[in-house]
Amino acid sequence: MSVHFRKLALIGIGLIGSSIALAARRQGLAEVISIATRRQDTLDEARELRLGDIYTLDAAEAARGADLVIICTPVGAYESVMRAIAPALEPGAILSDVGSVKGHVVKTLAPLIPDGVSFIPGHPLAGTEHSGPAAGFAELFTGRWCVLTPGPEVDPAQTEKLAAFWRAMGSQVESMDAAHHDMVLAITSHIPHLVAYNIVGTVADLEAATQSEVIKFSASGFRDFTRIAASDPVMWRDVFLTNRDAVLEMLGRFLEDLSALQRSVRMGDGPALEALFTRTRAIRRSIISAGQETAAPDFGRTHDAPPIPEIPFVREHGGGDDA
Ligand code: NAP
Repeated sequence: MSVHFRKLALIGIGLIGSSIALAARRQGLAEVISIATRRQDTLDEARELRLGDIYTLDAAEAARGADLVIICTPVGAYESVMRAIAPALEPGAILSDVGSVKGHVVKTLAPLIPDGVSFIPGHPLAGTEHSGPAAGFAELFTGRWCVLTPGPEVDPAQTEKLAAFWRAMGSQVESMDAAHHDMVLAITSHIPHLVAYNIVGTVADLEAATQSEVIKFSASGFRDFTRIAASDPVMWRDVFLTNRDAVLEMLGRFLEDLSALQRSVRMGDGPALEALFTRTRAIRRSIISAGQETAAPDFGRTHDAPPIPEIPFVREHGGGDDA
């Protein structure tokens, strides 16, 4: 199916919005790309990066006349964005989004969708810990899943048109129910982020001497949590505020399993520990076979020697730290 939109409007131009702009432009999926964002600095940056053709701080102006509008802001901003763009949406247009949570998005936006507009929520399962327009790259979606959660009222031809758009940007597309999406994502994405935020938060609260040891020896495991825990604070605040039920449900199961693990450690139950670690190793192998991760050791990091930090000259003194 050939994919062609007359005007693609991106409301929000951070990591995801800019990656869509670059991928859509590279694949020739839209004649015109219009970009709206909240702050002038971000808009100027998007213009310098030549991400689109029309730049505005007025979301309604960006959306007017567009046959595909994608909201790419944090989920907490959706309602005000939607109220702004609703009068500008034209019958026949597709309205979508990229938010990491779907049930809340449907509840918030569905009552505001004008007649004749196809509302097809979406979520590309692709990202990095970086934010802003300069963080985007056209290959972000290559080989990654994009989940669509159209309601029963949506014309399947419109869903297929949006699916074809994502496939043309390199994604594999699957449709599912919004509640199911939120439960799956709670365990595959939201809980891992919560665990990473927690473990890195624990280190942030340690006394200074221990903290510097953790940083020095971080490559023994801790470092890999810090990548996830460096993810955008506003986006993740909104994920936990809007997917509360599914996160709490999965967190309950996680905590039960953690208690069982704690007991195995306390009881010195070697067979139980080894059995679990064998099962978890198999999960990683299946992720590699599914093409969602590299088989190269250590996440494919190259092992060029990192620059050796200069050791500051430490003056001997009578005690107490210099300020
Ligand atoms: P980002 O890089 O932080 O960019 C956010 C964009 O939204 C910026 O253009 C920002 O505008 C705008 N924005 C922020 N608050 C706003 C508000 N209150 N009103 C209007 N515009 C506002 O974010 P991102 O990583 O691209 O994430 C965007 C969406 O994608 C989120 O819903 C997130 O759940 C979803 N998502 C993210 C990832 C990921 O890994 N990052 C992966 C999949 C899906 P200004 O800079 O002008 O303020």
